[in-house]
Amino acid sequence: MVEKGSKGFEVSELGEKMGIKMTSTTEMSFDQVRVPEENLIGDLHKGFYQQHKKAGWNFDQGRIEPKWTSMAKMYAGRVGVEVAQEAIQIHGGYGYMLEYEVERYYRDARITEIYEGTREIQKNTIASAVIGKRG
Ligand SMILES: Cc1cc2nc3c(=O)[nH]c(=O)nc-3n(C[C@H](O)[C@H](O)[C@H](O)COP(=O)(O)OP(=O)(O)OC[C@H]3O[C@@H](n4cnc5c(N)ncnc54)[C@H](O)[C@@H]3O)c2cc1C
Repeated sequence: MVEKGSKGFEVSELGEKMGIKMTSTTEMSFDQVRVPEENLIGDLHKGFYQQHKKAGWNFDQGRIEPKWTSMAKMYAGRVGVEVAQEAIQIHGGYGYMLEYEVERYYRDARITEIYEGTREIQKNTIASAVIGKRG
């Protein structure tokens, strides 16, 4: 955890987004930032293994596998987008209009296939675990 105001840590605003507009999206830069040891969350170099609730059960069972987090992330993202897309379709023309909130669900869902590892990168991680090759 890096404290706001730490020397060498800068935050700059990015442009407007398609969805999730209620969240702020910024670029963070770190230049020789020093972080006290007590600010470390979890184990050093193991941040990747602390994502995703669905993978939590496997973690509790002593299994820490990136392919589980990738499968959970890719599947949840795809289902979210498909459901939102179908909701637009069911609403017909109204579904496409900004007046109805349903279009926002699609815009908000779409980012889940991009950030925190795009669906292609998740596929690469799953493939490398299953067939043993790196993407
Ligand atoms: C709203 C928003 C919030 C974000 N929040 C954060 C955040 O909190 N923290 C953070 O660190 N980042 C954040 N990001 C950055 C986000 O994680 C990246 O945009 C995302 O990982 C894709 O990286 P990129 O934009 O560099 O695209 P690229 O890596 O250039 O990818 C472009 C396309 O090429 C594909 N591609 C790239 N490499 C491969 C490959 N090896 N095999 C197959 N296909 C490939 C990608 O899947 C994608 O379709 C955010 C982005 C957005 C838009």
